Amino acid sequence: MKKIRCPKCDDFVLFDEKTIDRENIVVFHCDHCGKTFKVKFKRKEQTDENEPDFGSVVVVENIFGQRQVFPLHLGDNSFGRRNPGDDIDCPIVSTDPSMDRLHCIINVTEKDGGLVYKIRDCNSNTGTFVMNSEVTKKEQRIIFPGNVISLGATTLILQASGEKD
Ligand SMILES: [Zn+2]
Repeated sequence: MKKIRCPKCDDFVLFDEKTIDRENIVVFHCDHCGKTFKVKFKRKEQTDENEPDFGSVVVVENIFGQRQVFPLHLGDNSFGRRNPGDDIDCPIVSTDPSMDRLHCIINVTEKDGGLVYKIRDCNSNTGTFVMNSEVTKKEQRIIFPGNVISLGATTLILQASGEKD
């Protein structure tokens, strides 16, 4: 059995992954709050072998949350403290009060066969820092694999594509 979070109340709903054998939209019902929600699943082979790799962001474990890894996709990847009902790409499960619910965006583009990463702050309360240097308002800073990003008391590290966590 696997579990999936209810987007409304954050409770876990259990399901049997063996019943999902192809690209499929499955309807779940949360016994806790009564919410009905749909989740789209991809075939496992597709996600394992054919999913393009655009790098990832590792969230370092601290007193507010556990270590997490978010694969990036082309275009904008929004980051912030996870809040049920919010719709952001990389919701960080954390109680860090100094990290906004939408804190920063990492944009990924392809250029000359490589990848370019740019970060910008989303008007956050505590700012977005790359290697201890603050990203100013309206700035789009180019960042590189290995760079350390600070959102409040939470630390993120950009990982290149092909790097396994
Ligand atoms: Zn629920």
